[in-house]
Formats: sequence, C-alpha cells, structure tokens
Amino acid sequence: MNSIKSLHLANAIAEKVSIDDRLKKAFEEIDREFFMPKGFSFYAYSLDALPIQAGQWISSPLTVAKMTKALEYNLSDDSVLEIGCGSGYQAAILSKVFRRVFTVERIESLLTQAKERFKKLNLKNIHTRFDDGVNGWKMYAPYDRILFSASCIEPPLALLQQLKDGGILVAPIEKGGKQVITRYIKNGKRVVAQEIEECFFVPIVGGVQKS
Ligand code: SAH
Repeated sequence: MNSIKSLHLANAIAEKVSIDDRLKKAFEEIDREFFMPKGFSFYAYSLDALPIQAGQWISSPLTVAKMTKALEYNLSDDSVLEIGCGSGYQAAILSKVFRRVFTVERIESLLTQAKERFKKLNLKNIHTRFDDGVNGWKMYAPYDRILFSASCIEPPLALLQQLKDGGILVAPIEKGGKQVITRYIKNGKRVVAQEIEECFFVPIVGGVQKS
C-alpha cells in the first residue's frame, strides 16, 4: 500500500516538475522515509536534499524527478546504470521506470544500507556494485541510459563506451563555478550535449572507501 505521505509528496513534485504518470506513480510507490538516516524520517517528505552519513546527501525529490525525466526514457528501454547510489532513493525510483537498474557506489557502508533497503522493499531489479564508478560496470554493458548522481567535469570515456548507440547519459557537469544538468546523446562516434538547467550535487571522488 502506498502511504498517504508518499501520495502527497508525488503531488507536490508534480506541481513543480512536469512528470508523466509512470514517474509520478514511482514517487507514490517508493516511500522516501525508508531512505532516511535514523531519526530523520520527519524530513522525508520535504522537497529538500538532506545530509545522510559519510558526508553525503540524499538528493531532493525534485532533483530526482528532473534527473529521471532528463533521461527521456521509453517503454522499450531496458537498462540504466547509476553512478553514486548513496541512500538508494534515486535507484529505487529508476527501478519503477526501467526493467533493470545497475548502481555503483564508492562508500561501502552506504551501499550496504542501500542494499538492505532494496531487499526490504522487494526491489529485485536493482543490482549493486561497490567500486569507483568511473569504471562503469562493463559486465552488463551496453546500457540504454546512464545517470550520474555526483558531479563531474566531463563524462568519463569508459562510460560513454558502455552506452548503447542512440543511448542517453545524464550528468551534473561542473562549468565555470556552476553545475549544469547535461544530457549526452550518443550517435555512432558523435556525442551531442544538451544543457538542461543548473543543479547542485556532491562531486565525484576517485577510488573506494571501505566501511
Ligand atoms: N543517488 C543518491 C544521491 C547520492 S549523493 C540518492 O538518491 O540518495 C552522491 C553519491 O555519489 C555519494 O553517495 C557518493 O559517495 C557517490 N560517489 C561519488 N563519487 C563516486 C564514484 N567515483 N563512484 C561511485 N560513487 C561515487
């Protein structure tokens, strides 16, 4: 059963970002409270980003809506790869829109908790990996869509290589002291970039952090 609070949150998001019924339903079905650190569930239904642990953040639901929308998913799209699983909230939303979700996180303790949440919510189509996301996840490539949940200067080449031809990669790109949600469309050897809007994400960090 969807909680009343999730229904309200989905409505509040839809008032600010134009989202289709499928994405709205995802926000109704995934209870953000599950993704909050202990003692912070009170803030779960606000439209703000919130600190989790290990100096990281759970994205604002508005940002999650905008990033998911920027992927321009189709019913025929099969797989999406996320870099920066964090709390797992974005991946959980993606799991209602894509058939298979692959998500990579460099901080082991965050990933352990996200995995527990996916299990509790019975989200069996999310696959997780503990690694530096700049390597992508070769085994299941190529992906229809790739989403960066941490900012970078440009999308790493390895990730563009793991994107299907005709596929879309969305990332917060650091540019002149700002960050801009940018959509990259791969067309054979050509990649076309489209800037969408300003945003704020934590920056991508190299290497992994064990526990
Ligand atoms: N998607 C998350 C938001 C995560 S914040 C949510 O919905 O809550 C960004 C996350 O990216 C952090 O958890 C951070 O540890 C992770 N990250 C940063 N650099 C990374 C890298 N190189 N590889 C994988 N994850 C990375």
